[in-house]
Amino acid sequence: MNTQNDKIQEVDAVVVGAGFTGLYQLYKFRQLGLKVQVLEAGTAVGGTWYWNRYPGARTDSESRVYQYWFSEELLDEWNWSERFPAQEETERYLNYVAKKFDLEKDIKFNSRVNAATYDENSKRWTVTTEDGSAVSCQFFVMGAGGLSVPNTPDIPGVADFKGTKVHTSRWPHGGIDLAGKRVGIIGTGATGIQVIQTIAPEVGSLTVFQRTPNYAIPMNNPKYDDTERSKMRAEYPAIREQVNKTFGGHFWGADERPFFEVDQEEREKRLKELWVDGSLQFWVGSYTDLFLEEDVSKAFSKFVADRIRDRVDDPAVAKKLIPLDHEFGTRRVPLETRYYETYNRDNVTLIDLNEDPIDHVDATGVVTRSGHHDVDILIFATGFDAGTGALTSVDIRGRDQRQLSKEWDKNGINTYLGLQVSGYPNMFMVMGPMTPAAAFCNVPTCIQQQVDWITDCVSFVRNKGSQAIEPSREAEVGWGQHHDETAAMALVTKTDSWYTGANIEGKPRRLLAYIGGVPAYQAHCDKEKDSGYAHCIFY
Ligand code: NAP
Repeated sequence: MNTQNDKIQEVDAVVVGAGFTGLYQLYKFRQLGLKVQVLEAGTAVGGTWYWNRYPGARTDSESRVYQYWFSEELLDEWNWSERFPAQEETERYLNYVAKKFDLEKDIKFNSRVNAATYDENSKRWTVTTEDGSAVSCQFFVMGAGGLSVPNTPDIPGVADFKGTKVHTSRWPHGGIDLAGKRVGIIGTGATGIQVIQTIAPEVGSLTVFQRTPNYAIPMNNPKYDDTERSKMRAEYPAIREQVNKTFGGHFWGADERPFFEVDQEEREKRLKELWVDGSLQFWVGSYTDLFLEEDVSKAFSKFVADRIRDRVDDPAVAKKLIPLDHEFGTRRVPLETRYYETYNRDNVTLIDLNEDPIDHVDATGVVTRSGHHDVDILIFATGFDAGTGALTSVDIRGRDQRQLSKEWDKNGINTYLGLQVSGYPNMFMVMGPMTPAAAFCNVPTCIQQQVDWITDCVSFVRNKGSQAIEPSREAEVGWGQHHDETAAMALVTKTDSWYTGANIEGKPRRLLAYIGGVPAYQAHCDKEKDSGYAHCIFY
C-alpha cells in the first residue's frame, strides 16, 4: 500500500468521477485557481455514457437540453446529429469537451475510489483508490453518478451458468456477438426496453423475463441537418433560461390547470398531440396534477394501454405488457421505438414472472416454474442501487470517525439540500439523494446547477478565510422534513420502483429524489447561498 504521508499527492480538491459532473466540476474549480485531481474508475471520460454501452442505449432527454451551457464556443462547435442521441454520440461529446478544455491532464483513470477519511486536525480528506494510492485534499466532491452501482439479483445458480452473462452497465467495449444466439434478458425498465427492441432482429431467439411491465411511450427521433441545428442554436439562449424554470429541467412547462377541469375535447387533443411529439413531454410536460391525482394518472394509463393493445397482435401478450400494479407516470416512463411490436416477432417470447417465476439458473439457461429456457447469453437489465449506492459503496468517514454507509443505514438518509451531510465537512455530492437530480430532472440541467452551487460555496469558504464548512444538524433535519412532506403529496411515493428504494432488498423505503421541482429546489439553494450559508458551520 502506497499510503505513507510522503507519497500522498496533495491537491485542493478531489472529484470522483469523470462524467457530466466531474468534467464540469474540474472546469469550474480550475476557474477558482484550485489544483484538482479527478479520480475515475473507467479508462476514459464519459461516466454513464462510458459504462452503459449496451445495444440501443440513448438518452430520453433531447440533445438541445442534454448538454453544457458554459461555453458559447462549445455550443457553436458541437453538432448534434439527432433529437435523442445514442450512447456513442454523447460519449463522443464528453470526450470532445475533455479535449477542448484540456481536462484529461487532471484526471486519473483506472482509479476506483474505495475510501475517503476526514482528518479534523488538518481539516483535509484523504481519498484512496483500490490500487492503494492516496490523494489528500481540502474539498471532496462525490460525482460518481446516481445510477452507477449495478444491481445484480442473487438468483440461485447464476454462478453455474456456462454461457455469457452481463449486466447492461458493464457491457464490454468490444461488444458481444449476439448474431443468431439464444439470448435471455431479465428486466424491462428503461434499459431492458432499449436492449430488447434493438437486439430482437439480430438474435436467434430472445426470451424476456418480465417481473413488472412499464408504461413506455414512443420516441420520435428525427435526424438533424444544418438548417435544424441553426434553428436550434438560435433558441439556445432562451432554452438555457427555460431549463431552470421547468419542473423537470427540460424546456417545456406543464399545464397547471387541473386535468379534469380542462374541456374533454381539448385535453384529448392535447394528449394526442403530445403522443405524436414523441418525447417525455407527454409525462413531465403535460398536466401538473398527473403527479398528484390518481384519477388523472388512471386516465393517462388508459390512453397508453389502449395503444399497447393496438400494437401487440396477441391480446394475451398485450395484457401481460400492461401494468396492473401501478398507474402511468408513477414509475420512470421509458421512451421506446417499436418496443411493443417486438413481441409480434416469432423469435421473441415473453415470460411473465408473476405467473411463471424463476426458480434458478443452471449451466445452460433459466429454469422457471413452467420449464427450462435454453440461453447462450443472459443479460441482466436489472438496474442500480440508485442515488445512495455510489456513496455508500465508498468507505466515507467524517468527523469522529463516523461512517456514512453505517449512519445512513441506521438513521436513514440525511442530507442538506442533497449537497452536503452534517458531520462530513467539505464533502459535497452531485446527483445525491434528496435532490431533483437523483431522478426528476434532465440530468445536465441539475448537475450544472449543483456544480455551480458547490463552486460558489467553496469560493465563499476560501474568501472568508475558513478551512471547512458543513451544514448544521438542524438544517439537515429541516431539509429531510421538507423532502418528506413534499414526497407525501406525490403518487410516485406510493409505488414500488428504484425511485422509492424498493428495488434493493433491505433499502429503507423513502422517495429518493426531491419532487418539489427544479425551480423550487434552486430557490432553496440560492437562498442558502445568498444568506452567506446561514445554516452551515464554518471551521
Ligand atoms: P430499472 O428501471 O430499475 O429496471 C430494472 C428491471 O429489472 C425491472 O424491470 C425490474 O423488475 C427487473 N428486476 C430487477 N431485479 C429482478 C429480479 N430479481 N427478477 C426479475 N426482474 C428483476 O433499471 P434500468 O432499466 O436500468 O433503468 C434505471 C434508470 O436509468 C431509468 O429509470 C432511467 O432513469 C435511467 N435510464 C435512462 C435511459 C434513457 O434515458 N433512455 C435508459 C436507461 C436507463 P421490477 O420492476 O419488478 O423491480
